[in-house]
Amino acid sequence: MTKLTKINSILSCIFAAVIFSCNTSQNSPAKTSGNPFGKQVDSILSLMTVEEKIGQLNLPSSGDITTGQAKSSNIAKKIEEGKVGGLFNIKSAAKIRDVQKIAIEKSRLKIPLLFGMDVIHGYETTFPIPLGLSCSWDMEMIKKTAQMAAQEATADGINWTFSPMVDISRDPRWGRVSEGSGEDPYLGSEIAKAMVHGYQGDDLTKNNTMLACVKHFALYGAPEAGRDYNTVDMSKIRMYNEYLPPYQAAVDAGVGSVMASFNEIDGIPATGNKWLLTDLLRNHWGFNGFVVTDYTGIEEMVYHGVGDFQQVSAQALTAGVDMDMVSDGFLTTLKKSLDEGKISINDIDAAVKRILTAKFELGLFEDPYKYCDETRTKTEIFTKENRDFARKVASGSMVLLKNDNQLLPLKKSGTIALIGPLANNAVNMAGTWSVATKQDLSNPLLEGLKTVAGEGVHVLYAKGSNLDYDLAFEKRATMFGKTIPRDGRTDKQLLDEALAMASKSDVIVAALGESAEMSGESSSRTNLQIPQVQKDLLNALLKTGKPVVLVLFTGRPLAIVEENAKVPAILNVWFPGSEAGLAISDVLFGAVNPSGKLTATFPMNVGQVPIFYNHKNTGRPLGNNEGRFEKFKSNYLDVRNEPLYPFGYGLSYTTFDYSNLKLSATEMNVSGSIEASVDVTNSGNYDGKEVIQLYIRDVVGSVTRPVKELKGFQKVEIKKGETKTVTFKLTESDLKFYNSNLDFVSEPGMFQVFVGTDSNAKLMKEFELTK
Ligand code: BGC
Repeated sequence: MTKLTKINSILSCIFAAVIFSCNTSQNSPAKTSGNPFGKQVDSILSLMTVEEKIGQLNLPSSGDITTGQAKSSNIAKKIEEGKVGGLFNIKSAAKIRDVQKIAIEKSRLKIPLLFGMDVIHGYETTFPIPLGLSCSWDMEMIKKTAQMAAQEATADGINWTFSPMVDISRDPRWGRVSEGSGEDPYLGSEIAKAMVHGYQGDDLTKNNTMLACVKHFALYGAPEAGRDYNTVDMSKIRMYNEYLPPYQAAVDAGVGSVMASFNEIDGIPATGNKWLLTDLLRNHWGFNGFVVTDYTGIEEMVYHGVGDFQQVSAQALTAGVDMDMVSDGFLTTLKKSLDEGKISINDIDAAVKRILTAKFELGLFEDPYKYCDETRTKTEIFTKENRDFARKVASGSMVLLKNDNQLLPLKKSGTIALIGPLANNAVNMAGTWSVATKQDLSNPLLEGLKTVAGEGVHVLYAKGSNLDYDLAFEKRATMFGKTIPRDGRTDKQLLDEALAMASKSDVIVAALGESAEMSGESSSRTNLQIPQVQKDLLNALLKTGKPVVLVLFTGRPLAIVEENAKVPAILNVWFPGSEAGLAISDVLFGAVNPSGKLTATFPMNVGQVPIFYNHKNTGRPLGNNEGRFEKFKSNYLDVRNEPLYPFGYGLSYTTFDYSNLKLSATEMNVSGSIEASVDVTNSGNYDGKEVIQLYIRDVVGSVTRPVKELKGFQKVEIKKGETKTVTFKLTESDLKFYNSNLDFVSEPGMFQVFVGTDSNAKLMKEFELTK
């Protein structure tokens, strides 16, 4: 009862008395055992009308809509009537305080609201897009980005983020590949944990931590043909082994909420899928937070064709959804379904309890305004310290794809021609899903380059081309204020200006690729190349004979075979966030030695998609074909099987040599462990960081097993000339998989262990697992 003393006086005496009285739980049919707030929750529940209960399950958008169409209106009136449980997309502590006041001062039961937002890769201080961030392979750093995002968002009134997005994807056509951590379930799970811990900390009642929401549950990253919102159809064995682990890792890390995905699973939309949301999530995985739909997820079930609005709303509730984002399906139909006996009051109560519990966990009943401290808004957001960290994070996520003859790092002398439609553009730097970012304040490359280069370098700039030849496409690809203003000059005039600049330079830096909104939600592409106008520009620049560095902006793996063949140096910078220009320049000039490694395979062409390193062997494997073709083997007539750049790939300004892979034993018992050690020598001329990767192959299984699976990685700093011995420990849990009964088992037999610089790792040792 110590918390009782802290109860904010804003809560009415009657209400406070009721929530903390301990003898009213008999009115509640649903169980709250094990819930530390069970009694308080039951007390509130006993006071609520059915309408007020349903109101808690309603999550309208505030009106600052980022996607889709909000059906909700008259928000304030609804809050007064107790018809709103939370709101999302309002920015600023002052506005949030005003809205919270309506709930606390005008609604009958004075239940505080949740305030959500898509705080995806930072808040105002913006970090690289999640796919980029994942390429850092640095879990402490990733966790800290989430912590900092929580620090800033909570200083602005937000208490709930719709992140992390942990959808595994092997399909770069899908625009939302930019929002996840790539293709690997092991790495994806590690990142999921780091993000949840970062956002939620170890104490949700603090005012600088917030509730996380793992999404999009489940399998949203595997839509047919890479088209957003499209059908997903997947075997259970693939689901369990390859796609579900990151969601489960987030649940195990204590994530407070889960967002249902738009897609169907086994023919039933996730939003109404009881197997998914109750049997698997709650009963099997033990999740005890709440489930929210995605934007209009309930309404969309009507279009999926599984029932009318009343039916699908009831189905969502009984399947396990607790909160309805934007559809108004719960608000407008659940009472009728209750009266008609289609749902029970227990179904409603169970959901209400979960929402109220989350509000207790956040401490909102103690102080509904705990996140509305405007002093914090002024002092904790977009600070110098946060921006310095964002700069470091951004440079740590860039991937050096090619660097012939050590063209990079650049010397701090001579003349650089910076050319390209992305070279001097602030608003695209934060990338997709950066709702809170102050786009104009992001640091464009031109500015960053001049700052980092200093006096000794002469920097020339030309735009060189528009984003695309096609104006209509360009409009679609530069939405939400993330424009790249169309240049009034002709393509030829733009090119001529660029060539004139190039001719005066010692080296050309070409800033090309996608715009921020060419990836992200509803931004699927069937062409994975750099837009043709930019390819033409690049070719013209190459023809000058000057050395060209390609700074590649992208939200997805691109098919850049031609560029790889012709351009001597390629630095993939993704969308680096608010400190983009400085961070890119830190890498270009060598203040930071690049250490990012790809977490999604770069294909040769779109026809290879889906492509991923942990595929099965098949009965007719070709092995490495490297251009070789063999009839009646699993290969293509027109392109090799291997990707352009494999998972785990990324160069450094230095070189790392791997040797002396050793296992501590040749046999391991299921209750034991085995250690793998390898010597890594920095054999080049720069100090650097290397992501040392360990993969296993289960040679024989009761079901077919992937050719390689990542099971460990370490990012290690190694000075030039230095050798470090790096050790990994494997236990039975690293060797387990779901068999055909969906039991999670290990099977005795031979395992291969590979260690190396990417998923092509060749150093290999074997051991036997014994029972
Ligand atoms: C997206 C979600 C997002 C939600 C709320 C949806 O369109 O799929 O990822 O959290 O909108 O903005």
